[in-house]
This record gives sequence, C-alpha cells and structure tokens, in this order.
Amino acid sequence: MSTAVVVGGGPNGLAAAVLLAREGVRVTVLEAADEVGGGARSGEAILPGLLHDHCSAIHPMAVGSAFLRGLDLGRYGLEWRLPDIDCVHPLDDGTAGVLHRSVTETAAGFGGADGARWRRLFEGPVASYDDLAEDIMGPLLRLPHHPLRLARFGIPALLPATTLARLFAGERARALFGGVAAHAFQPLHHPLTSSIGLGILTAGHRHGWAVAAGGSGAITRALAALLTDLGGKIETGVRVRSSSQLPPAYVTLYDLAPAAVADILGDRLPPSAARAYRRFRHGPGAFKVDFAVEGGVPWTAEPARHAGTVHLGGTFAEVAAGEREISAGRMPERPFVLVGQQYLADPQRSVGDVHPVWTYAHVPHGYTGDATEAITAQVERFAPGFRDRVVGRTVRTTADFPAHNPNYVGGDIMTGAKNVPQLLFGPRPTLNPYDTGLPGHYLCSAATPPGPGAHGMCGVNAARAALRHVRKSSR
Ligand SMILES: Cc1cc2nc3c(=O)[nH]c(=O)nc-3n(C[C@H](O)[C@H](O)[C@H](O)COP(=O)(O)OP(=O)(O)OC[C@H]3O[C@@H](n4cnc5c(N)ncnc54)[C@H](O)[C@@H]3O)c2cc1C
Repeated sequence: MSTAVVVGGGPNGLAAAVLLAREGVRVTVLEAADEVGGGARSGEAILPGLLHDHCSAIHPMAVGSAFLRGLDLGRYGLEWRLPDIDCVHPLDDGTAGVLHRSVTETAAGFGGADGARWRRLFEGPVASYDDLAEDIMGPLLRLPHHPLRLARFGIPALLPATTLARLFAGERARALFGGVAAHAFQPLHHPLTSSIGLGILTAGHRHGWAVAAGGSGAITRALAALLTDLGGKIETGVRVRSSSQLPPAYVTLYDLAPAAVADILGDRLPPSAARAYRRFRHGPGAFKVDFAVEGGVPWTAEPARHAGTVHLGGTFAEVAAGEREISAGRMPERPFVLVGQQYLADPQRSVGDVHPVWTYAHVPHGYTGDATEAITAQVERFAPGFRDRVVGRTVRTTADFPAHNPNYVGGDIMTGAKNVPQLLFGPRPTLNPYDTGLPGHYLCSAATPPGPGAHGMCGVNAARAALRHVRKSSR
C-alpha cells in the first residue's frame, strides 16, 4: 500500500490527507500542536462557556468549496450558519456600505449608478462562480477550464484596488469594496490587489459569509474525523524540525511556511528551491483582540448590529493609507480593523447576554507595540459606548501568533505576502507551485495558490500532484 506523510494539520494539511486517504493511500499527519486545526481552531479564552475563534472566523470560500461540499462533512458535525447581513463597512457620518448575500439587494442599497455598477461587476461572475472556482481555486498559471468566464472575472482582478474603486462614485460602495480588498494585506495601489477582494465578494454573493456552528474548529475537527474513518493516523505534539524525524513514505506534504520546509529538508532540497524558500517574503502582521461584550456592540449604523463581519477603517482613502503604512513598516494611528460577530448566526457561542467579539488589526510585520487601544478606539469610533460594555478581553500579538502556529511568521496570518509573484506562483516561479523540486515532496500550505483561507484547496491541489507521483512510482 502507498504511504504519505503530511507535516502540519491545518485545513490544507487535513484536506490533502483526506484526498490521499480516499484514493487508498495510507496517510499519517504529524502536527506540532496538541490538537489539529492550525488556523481553524476555537475554544474558550475569557469566560467559561464563551466560545472564540482563535484564528479564522468567516468562511465564504470554504462554504463554497466544491471539494469540502463533496465530503459531506455534516456527517462529522460541520454545520454552516449565515448571518442576516454578510458584511458592513460603517462611515463616520453614520451611513454604511452594506453587503448582502444578494447582489440585487446590495446594489439596491447603493442605488443609482453605483448600484448598477455593482450589479455589472458581480452578476456574471456570481452566476458562474461554481465553474469559475475550478480556475481561481487551482494553480493560477495553467490552461483555464472556463477561459471566457475567467477573463470576465480576471480582467478587473488584475487592477489595483485603487483603480477599480474609482468605478464607484459614492463612498459607501467604494469603502465596502476597499475593506474587502484590504484582506490582501497589500498596498491597494499595487496590481492584482483587486483579485482577493473580488474573489471573496463573488464567493460571498454566491454562498454567503458563513460561520461554522460551534466555531471554526468544527471544520478541521470534521476533516480529522473523516480522515480517521478512512484509516488515516494523526499524531499531535510532534514538531518536525528535520527530515530524520519523518517516517519513510512515497510522498511527503508540508503544510508549512516555505523556510520551515528548507530547514527540514536541508541539503536534500535543490539549491534553487532552497534559495527561493529562504527568500520567500512574509507580509504585514495581525494583532488580535477577542472581547467579551455585554449586550453586544452598540453600532451607530443599524445594519452593523446584524452583520457577521464589520470592517472598520472609514473611507476607502483612509483604508488605503493604512495598508500603505503597515506595508512600509509604520503603525498607523487608526489601523484597518476587522470585527467578527459570529454569535449572531451561532448564538450557542454566547453566555447569556455576554457575547464573543473577534477583532484584529492590520499592523506592520513583527510589530512590537500594543494595538489593543487602537482597536478599541476604532470600534468606539463607530459604536460609542462600546468600552463600557467590555467585560473581558484577551490579546494575541505578532509574537504570540508564531508561538501558537509557526506558519504565522512575524504575525503574518496569510503565510506569505500576497504580492504579484507570490500570489501567482507561490514561493518559486514554476508551473507546479506545490512541487518542492525534490521528487515526492510537496508544499501544501497557504503559501501556495490559491492562498489563505480555511478552504483546503492548497492542500487539495498539492495532494493531486502527489497522487500523480504515487501512481507513477507504483507502476
Ligand atoms: C487571526 C486570523 C484570522 C483569520 N481569519 C480568516 C477568516 O476569517 N477566514 C478564512 O478563510 N481564513 C482566515 N484566516 C486564514 C486561515 O486561517 C489560514 O489561511 C489557514 O488556516 C491556512 O491553512 P494551512 O493549512 O495552510 O495552515 P495553518 O492553518 O497555518 O496550519 C498549519 C499547521 O501546521 C502545524 N505546524 C507548523 N509547523 C510545524 C512543524 N514543523 N511540524 C509539525 N506541524 C507544524 C501548525 O501547528 C498548524 O496546525 C485567519 C488566520 C488568522 C491567524
């Protein structure tokens, strides 16, 4: 029987393991932490019974993933829940850009020319999202399955977000788009910075900004349970630092940051790959604060009281300036802040009228300051009275992130800067971004296309490449 080892049990490592196990490969997952899950883990942090997502929270790409849907993870306890409103971007005048699941409803909220433009930008890609996903969730440099659909989506995606935002005359549409584009953690005047925002918005309009009932850990717990049912083995508490720790296997997949793979494989890695993996650039960091809030956040903009996600950064120009600053290594006074109110769709996470509120700010790579006050002030700016409702909080700094998960170097929760070459190719310029150059060894983390998110597709793509190797070697 063919064998595989997967180092790292995040969403991508587990998705890779499940794909291989379903094809009859005997798989062992080696995970450094005491539990699998990586960036999709949840638990108590402030008060008994109050449930927080330690990392990922909102899952438009995962709920829309054909691979995950095909696994029927409901059998293992995964249940998706949708908030009434997907995302709100409040402005200082009390108005807000409001993202509904429906393109029509979102466009109606903007009205006039901006509404028509939002419809024109999204109606086509949303209608064909499930086909489009075959192309945008795979390695990006290959012959597309649906070239015309991809072109319709891809031409605006190539643009800097600052250019695409000019499509909209009003601040509500512009800021809403800018906040989602800022998920790229890149200066918004850089090429391709529209791509991540357009991908998230299109997936969300098709499938919703879902949360997992009981916390994001339910996604990876379900994958791990399925893997075990398929005969796969999971060993936790095993941090792999050298290839001498790896059991013999036909193929080995690494759900790791590229430099960690270079460390593990040492001289066995071809020098060009080793150089590329060591030069791989990490992006800006995240500074996370989870709050326990009595009575919820008193947002001025009424729709924000019903939204799973709230983006705080004011106008498009202010968000863009903040992203420029953090990329240059400077901490802005008012950073871009993401707020998750998962409990609105999944009330079991709360304790009575005390609710878990998930926030993080975009900060410079390796930022050593304390962004707690900057985050609190951004929430207070759009929800006066917030401070008085906070009954507890817990903080994760850019140094805490890699201690929790070595992939998040300097607080880079994206596993690598999503600049143009790394977004297109991953860590090195090859047509197979999963191939380390050492036969039988594959990179499967969010450092590879299609990049971050708890969708597992980097793992799926890497496992498909590994499977071709298994089949060739066992002929
Ligand atoms: C604060 C935060 C918020 C986020 N928000 C969202 C969101 O809302 N929606 C979304 O889709 N995504 C979000 N993400 C991103 C998402 O969590 C990641 O992109 C995703 O988890 C990447 O999956 P992965 O499998 O590539 O790696 P990871 O999830 O990072 O998993 C890697 C695993 O490898 C293990 N490991 C590392 N080194 C070793 C080693 N040497 N030996 C053995 N094991 C090792 C780690 O412990 C970890 O379990 C967020 C991430 C963070 C941190």
